[in-house]
Amino acid sequence: MQNQIRQIATAFERLALFWRSNQWSVAKEYGLNPSQGDVLQRISRQPERAADLAQRLGVTQASLSDTISALVAKGLAERRPDPEDGRARRIEATGQGRALAAVMPDVPEPLDAAIARLGDADRGALLRTLSLIIRSLQEAEAIPIQQMCLTCRHFRPHVHDDPARPHHCGFVDAAFGNGGLRLDCADHETATEEEAARNRARLAAVG
Ligand code: SF4
Repeated sequence: MQNQIRQIATAFERLALFWRSNQWSVAKEYGLNPSQGDVLQRISRQPERAADLAQRLGVTQASLSDTISALVAKGLAERRPDPEDGRARRIEATGQGRALAAVMPDVPEPLDAAIARLGDADRGALLRTLSLIIRSLQEAEAIPIQQMCLTCRHFRPHVHDDPARPHHCGFVDAAFGNGGLRLDCADHETATEEEAARNRARLAAVG
């Protein structure tokens, strides 16, 4: 097993290297650094409070504040009052920021093509496996909690007989398969530790 772990870790290392170098070249092309590009894409999809954004990205608020200040100085983002809490402020992309984010590739083109070449079953199996690995890293407090199905109170894995759509999302009240597992869902609501542990056990039990 140790050799398998080494091989899988090597695969992650190579993908991380590719991702990092691609992030630098894309961000540079658009006059940003990778952190600025990442934050701009996130706030273009959904305005967020700085504290929530820092937690999701796994960075300190001080470091995120520098990134946000740089985006504000470039006219790509702004700090605005949070409509749900008058004392809080959230970070929003400006029209110029959204326009820039729209032309920046979300996924590097060669990686997009490589994943598209997989069959549906392989993509679903990959999402299931990655979800389990990421959840284990969260349980070990190595990375922050993400807005993923495994930590969502709406997720009910393996409750339907249909093997193609065995899971259920209580938020949209619909069945779905491994290919529909989410790692960044805006409708996520954090489950209790017990619910998250039960979800993980049920998802891991069926291959
Ligand atoms: S709300 Fe989103 S994260 Fe939660 S179960 Fe549904 S799809 Fe998954």
